[in-house]
Amino acid sequence: RKSCFRLSTGSKQWDAILNGGFESRSISEVYGEFRCGKTQLAHTLSVVAQLPREEGGGGGKVAWIDTEGTFRPERIVQIAERFKIDPEVANENIIQCRAGNSEHQGSLILELSQYFVTGEYRLLVIDSLMALYRIDFIGRGELAERQQKLGGFLDKLHKIAEEFNIVVFYTNQVQSDPGANALFAGADGRKPVGGHVVAHASTTRVLLRKGRGEERVAKIQDSPDCPEGEATYIITTGGIND
Ligand code: ATP
Ligand code: MG
Repeated sequence: RKSCFRLSTGSKQWDAILNGGFESRSISEVYGEFRCGKTQLAHTLSVVAQLPREEGGGGGKVAWIDTEGTFRPERIVQIAERFKIDPEVANENIIQCRAGNSEHQGSLILELSQYFVTGEYRLLVIDSLMALYRIDFIGRGELAERQQKLGGFLDKLHKIAEEFNIVVFYTNQVQSDPGANALFAGADGRKPVGGHVVAHASTTRVLLRKGRGEERVAKIQDSPDCPEGEATYIITTGGIND
């Protein structure tokens, strides 16, 4: 695993609880309520991935699957300015695809593999993993089928991460009624959607929540090699920061 690297979040505190950042050849998940910065982190990682490895980057390009229409090239420009990367180049290095439904989300992965084989890509973002599955499969009756399709999708992500030394990073939502499933909920009652299939696929899981004022809090829920630390961060024009 010599060529593995860790991708910085933009926040030193947050990197510290992750032993340097999100790991390549691995799948990382952040989940949490709306506006806690999942999409902003994805933008930050997409710029940082282009930095040299000595600077917390991956030294490569980025693929982004957008399921909610929240990718913003203007944000990439602002974040690139912070990290002193040419903003135009920063956007050129990101292939962005808009997925219309969960099946399309799956087929985009196959299309993107043509890019990954070049060996130039270091980050794959999916923002968000479950949004389209939740729209396409409604209710208890469709849950088994949803989980099966989702499992197939996650298997593909796993292979991509391994084969191409890529950081696979996805965002996830939380159940609106954690009380209904309190048995599986984290200490604070927030539970990511996707059940055991997603829980099993994500090597590292980080719960995000709002803190005091503008502060946000990241808490590791599951990691092969990091203790269950907590870090605070803020969202700035230049992306995620301390
Ligand atoms: P959702 O669950 O709705 O997708 P999210 O976790 O993805 O939410 P983000 O969109 O990443 O949330 O974060 C939204 C927050 O980011 C808002 O509080 C907003 O104020 C902040 N934000 C967005 N752009 C900027 C910016 N240019 N400068 C500072 N803060 C910003
Ligand atoms: Mg978002």
